[in-house]
Amino acid sequence: MFWQFGRRKKVEKKLSTEPRSKKVKLVMQPPRGMKDVLPEEQNRWRFLKKIINRNAEINGYERIDTPIVEYASLFEKGTGEGTDVVEKEMFFVGRDGDSEEDALVLRPEATPGVARAYIEYGMRTWAQPVQLFYTGPMFRYDRPQAGRLRQFYQFGFESIGSPDPATDARLISMSYNIFKEMGLSQKIIIKINTIGCAKCRPNIIEVLTNYYSRNEELLCDDCKRRLQTNPLRLLDCKEKSCQRLLSEAPQIIDNVCGACKDHFKNVLEFLDEQEVPYDLDAHLVRGLDYYTRTTFEFIRADDESRQNSLGGGGRYDDLIELYGGQSTPAVGVSFGMERIIELLKREKIKIADEARVKVFVVQLGEAGKKQAVSVMDQLQKEKIPSQAALSKSTIKSQLKMADKLGARFAIIIGQKEAMDKTAIIRDMKEGIQEVVDQEILIVKLKEKIK
Ligand code: AMP
Repeated sequence: MFWQFGRRKKVEKKLSTEPRSKKVKLVMQPPRGMKDVLPEEQNRWRFLKKIINRNAEINGYERIDTPIVEYASLFEKGTGEGTDVVEKEMFFVGRDGDSEEDALVLRPEATPGVARAYIEYGMRTWAQPVQLFYTGPMFRYDRPQAGRLRQFYQFGFESIGSPDPATDARLISMSYNIFKEMGLSQKIIIKINTIGCAKCRPNIIEVLTNYYSRNEELLCDDCKRRLQTNPLRLLDCKEKSCQRLLSEAPQIIDNVCGACKDHFKNVLEFLDEQEVPYDLDAHLVRGLDYYTRTTFEFIRADDESRQNSLGGGGRYDDLIELYGGQSTPAVGVSFGMERIIELLKREKIKIADEARVKVFVVQLGEAGKKQAVSVMDQLQKEKIPSQAALSKSTIKSQLKMADKLGARFAIIIGQKEAMDKTAIIRDMKEGIQEVVDQEILIVKLKEKIK
């Protein structure tokens, strides 16, 4: 075996380049929990990416791409040893050296990589806050089910360098606007909470530990363990037995320090100012260790399942320092793209099919084909999407394909047209044809496309 997933202790072998036995059976499907995105689905993905890119640009977020493989320690230290993501779901891919520090994983999330890059490239000297965004695949070795994949795409925004509550509120509002633009703002609920800072966290932990220790026998097995390692997480356990303890559980907001309370109040006021609707959720803690103060989640309004979270984020004021940088406040958010695509599909959101072939070039005979490729070259230069079937030799079969591809127009250059240096423009919807000189073909076509 070359590598193993799941838990760190299983990392035994280096990445190997040795060839495997020739007898291995061919498996003709993607790995469990991973998906192909076929051309017919790309339209929604394009739509989503376009909105992300546009909003990043409008709001001054610059793209960053970090490696898909990172050292395991980046997540162990940052995301947190006691979190599900690190404890159970890491995709180990081996080591690039001999020591424990050399263990490599497929990234389960992008924020630690971005924080690492902030330190590594001295972004502290850039204008603050540094605003970065990303899209890309993440990997979690979890049990796959509806809405839960082992490889899934996230997009995210990170604003590093501002402690101001208005920054949190702008990030949430910007994310909300993305859902508005997609026509989904009515389908989501924004939940928000504060989980305090390094100063008041010990107090919160103590109050929670006291409460849950008194009721330990009612906790699920995972929470009995979490009580020692990560008591905050007890608040978002979905097990029935633990849920029953929630109503009496101490509220975080009653136990945070004055500065955190003020910060949270300000975040809410700035959200009100931008007319962003939200629900206060006293039990929202999120699953990653580095969060401080504001935490929030965008969930599907119509879905009660565990996979109803579309995205979430919060402040991580201590992460950069934890990684050895100077103390730097930050706030970020990440969204699961498959879950948003699924919602777009479910809500039957209409998306203009921009990339569909607009023009299909039909040719007949040697001279016709030569002129057809020249026309295609001109179409490319004019950025008019076009396609042809150059190996097909009957007009009928080519027109059939044009129809199948949903082409708006066909340009036909047969033997006669090739001799006359003309072309037929066929309106595929109306069935009307017009013969034009090839010299004015593009001009004519552009008029029609308009
Ligand atoms: P997180 O990084 O855990 O805060 O997750 C942010 C978002 O990523 C979630 O709200 C989901 O939309 C998405 N996500 C997280 N894990 C998965 C998964 N295993 N499969 C699909 N989407 C996921």
